[in-house]
Order: sequence, then C-alpha cells, then structure tokens
Amino acid sequence: MRILVVDDDPFICRLLVRQLKTLGCEQVTDFNRALAAVEHLERDPGGIDLIFCDLQMPEMDGIEFIRHLVRLGYAGSLVLISGEDERILQSAERLAREHKLRVPGALFKPVSSAQLQQLLEQAAPCASAPQAAEARRYDAEELAHAIGVGELVNHYQPKIDFASGQCSGVEALVRWQHPRDGLVYPDRFIAQAEEAGLIDALMCEVLRNALRDARHWRKQGLELQMAVNVSMDNLQGLDFPDLVERAALDSGVPLSSLVLEVTESHLMKNRQAALDILTRLRLKRIHLSIDDFGTGHSSLVQLRDIPFNELKIDRSFVHGAWRDASLSTILNASLEMARKLGMKAVAEGIEDRADWDYLRQAGCDVAQGWFIARAMPAEQLPAWLQDWERRRAELITPICDG
Ligand code: C2E
Ligand code: MG
Ligand code: MG
Repeated sequence: MRILVVDDDPFICRLLVRQLKTLGCEQVTDFNRALAAVEHLERDPGGIDLIFCDLQMPEMDGIEFIRHLVRLGYAGSLVLISGEDERILQSAERLAREHKLRVPGALFKPVSSAQLQQLLEQAAPCASAPQAAEARRYDAEELAHAIGVGELVNHYQPKIDFASGQCSGVEALVRWQHPRDGLVYPDRFIAQAEEAGLIDALMCEVLRNALRDARHWRKQGLELQMAVNVSMDNLQGLDFPDLVERAALDSGVPLSSLVLEVTESHLMKNRQAALDILTRLRLKRIHLSIDDFGTGHSSLVQLRDIPFNELKIDRSFVHGAWRDASLSTILNASLEMARKLGMKAVAEGIEDRADWDYLRQAGCDVAQGWFIARAMPAEQLPAWLQDWERRRAELITPICDG
C-alpha cells in the first residue's frame, strides 16, 4: 500500500511513519504542509492508496484537505487523526463519508500500533467493498406498470416487545419483484413514486397486500399488529381515513391492530390537510407512529401537533449507542420524552446483542432490527415465530442494575 501521512507536527509525522514501517508498510511519504500533500496528489492522483491526515493544521485544516480530495477524485482511503474533541472528529468523518470517500476509521492521538494495524487491515484494497454499480433509475411508466400488474410485494419485519420477548406485530416493507433486476428495495423507487404522483397507488397496493396477509395469519390464530408505512404525500386527500377504514373492514382486520408509520422526508405541502387526516385516523382507533424520529422533519413540531401513539427512534441513534456518549444521550432523551408523552418507544436498527441489551436496560418498549430478523416474505413468518420462541427465553433474563 502506498501511504501518505500529513501532519503539521514533524514529531507526530516521524512517529507515525516509523510505526507504519514497523508494521511492514514500505511506501510511506509524509508532509508537514497539507498544501504540499495536495500538490503531490495533483501530480499523481492515483498514486496513493491510503492517507493519514491530521484534522487541526494551521495552513489548511483537514476539512479543507477533504475538499481537495473530492476535487481530485481521490479513490483511496482516508483516516483522520485528531487530538480534538471526539465529536469534531466524528463530524469530520461523517462529512468525508458523505463525500463518498472511503473512511475505514479515525484515530485519536496518541496513536497506538494496535489501532494502526487494525485500520491497515480495514483499508487494504481487497477488504474494501466493491464499488456499487450505478443504480438504475426507474421511470414513472415502468413503476405504474409494476403496481398495476402486482409486481410489488410486501416483506414483513417483526417487532418484539422487550419485556415479554413476544412478537407484537410486524412492519410491512415494500419490495419490487422486478422481472429483470430481481428484488428491488424501496430506496430505489419510493422517492420516484412520490415525484410521479404514484405514491397513493403504491400505498393502496401495500395496504391491500398487508391486510390480505394479516387476515390469513388471523385465521391461523396469529393476532399481530400490522404496521404500514405512509408518506406525507399520502396525507393530502381528505378521504384517506375513509379509504383505510373501508379496506380494513372489508378484510375483517380490526382498525385498532393497524399502525400507520408516518415518515416525513420533505416539508408538508398542505399541513392542515395532514393534521385533519391524522387526527381522524386516530378517532377511528388506527394507531399512528412517527417513523425515523430524530431525522429530517420527523421532529418535535410533529410531536407537538399530531397525536402519535408510537415513537420510532431512527436507527442512526440506536445501533452502537451503548458505546457512544452522544448517541446514548439523544437516545435516552427520546425514550424519556416518549414515556412522558404516553407513547410507546420503538427502537429500530437493533443489530446485535449489545444493542438489544442496552435498549432493553434503557427501558425501551419495542425492538426491531436485524438481530431479531430481517424482513421476510409472509409465508416465512409462522416458521420464524417458532424459531424465535426458542431464542426468546435467553434474551429476556432479568435486568440487573449497576
Ligand atoms: P423504515 O420504515 O424506517 O423501515 C426500516 C428500514 O430499515 C427497512 O429498510 C428495514 O429493512 C431496515 N432495517 C431494519 N432493521 C435494520 C437493522 O437492524 N439495521 C439496518 N441497517 N437496517 C435495518 P427498507 O425495507 O429498505 O425500507 C427503507 C424505507 O423505505 C423505509 O424505512 C420506509 O421509509 C420506506 N418504505 C418501505 N416500504 C414503504 C411503503 O410501503 N410506503 C412508503 N411510503 N415507504 C416505504
Ligand atoms: Mg417504517
Ligand atoms: Mg425508520
């Protein structure tokens, strides 16, 4: 690996170079001035695989350096090093990632050889994920056709009650069974559906399929809450609550077992209409959940104005909160708020046992995430529930304080 070290402190620079060489890296170049490093990269943009860069430098700081890397189309990895506040380092790391730079991790001064070794392994070209092929955009016509011929299918992800370990419900997540591209995930077509005015048709299809599956499970004795995602764009026609009510009554699924998860990805076009509709949904005993809480516009204003029953904390505040002081502060404040407002708190993004234990200990009500199960086709759910029974007992051992 060809490595570049950039730090205004000559001592740190020398130390890092020595540590890297001890770890077997032979091609290490170092600069005390970021500008000189930029010039070096300008001469040969593809000549470096990994850069270690200090965040705080007098002439050009790490953030400005990132800007140059983006301009040069740098395709290697970047590791930021800092003696500053951890949160500044995290923001810088996040910024670099948002610029699509490869960031295997960040380092705190003083840097230990063990940490360096670990980062070198992660930054090795073979370990890096292959660049995702440019995702194809689907046009409105294709999507409208897919909805019409029934290519949209629901997968279901279980929601687990932390106290009992029992499955209290499922969330319907739409997928497109594309005849050529295989299973296509919603992040590739929901925004397009909104832009093309197809989101109502999509929502009706998802709801119809969800109610059909809920009815089928009920016949087998499985009384699960059914959550369906709705976009704010669905909440513009005033007859929306009547439409949902009719669909539920027709399928014999009680309205009180229906949850609508509302995500707001952009500003509401017509706020009064949305308030009218959401309030009427609640009058009909349909449950409302504020999805992705803490991101975008899913914010305190919504909590103030809309009678939500459930608060779903976005997974970016959940996974790894047990080892991150800022995340756990935000998470605990959200849990406290949900409790005081009489709402059920759901944690999404429970990805491992540590997340499960931490959120359970913190008093969260409901868990959802890959640690429990990924979303699955309807027919797999009964067998999954049986498997879960076997795992359950071990996950709800009494919580000990301290
Ligand atoms: P969401 O409603 O917040 O759903 C959770 C997303 O996180 C799902 O992605 C789910 O598969 C994923 N997920 C679940 N557990 C984990 C975990 O432990 N770790 C991680 N990293 N991810 C996890 P999916 O299915 O790709 O859906 C993405 C988003 O698309 C949904 O986010 C929702 O906003 C939207 N969506 C899905 N179905 C519909 C729909 O029928 N209508 C509308 N309007 N939006 C939908
Ligand atoms: Mg959701
Ligand atoms: Mg969510």
